[in-house]
This record gives sequence, structure tokens and C-alpha cells, in this order.
Amino acid sequence: MDNKKPEQITIAEELHVCPECGYEDGFHTSFVRQTKEKCKIILICPSCHARFDPNWMISI
Ligand SMILES: [Zn+2]
Repeated sequence: MDNKKPEQITIAEELHVCPECGYEDGFHTSFVRQTKEKCKIILICPSCHARFDPNWMISI
């Protein structure tokens, strides 16, 4: 398990390019449980596996 804290990322017009390596075909997603009811969505670059946190929370 990768415990490295994901890098904060903001989305301008569109986010499909990895700021780390320049990969252009979008991201994989991962869900990190924050509380019993809430998860955070983490973006993972399929190329360099850098993790990004756009601060998206979902209720489940
Ligand atoms: Zn990348």
C-alpha cells in the first residue's frame, strides 16, 4: 500500500495531462475512506503512478 500523501491538484479548464510526466490520456481513480460515510477520490497517473488529490469528496 502506498501511503505517500497525494499531491494537491486544481483543475483549470480540463484535467487530462499528468503534471509529473506529461501523460495525456487521463487518470485512474482510487477511493480513500475518510470517515464511515465519506470517501475521497484520488487520481493516479497510469504512466508514472503519481497520485493527485483534487479534493473530491463523495458520500457513500
Ligand atoms: Zn504521470
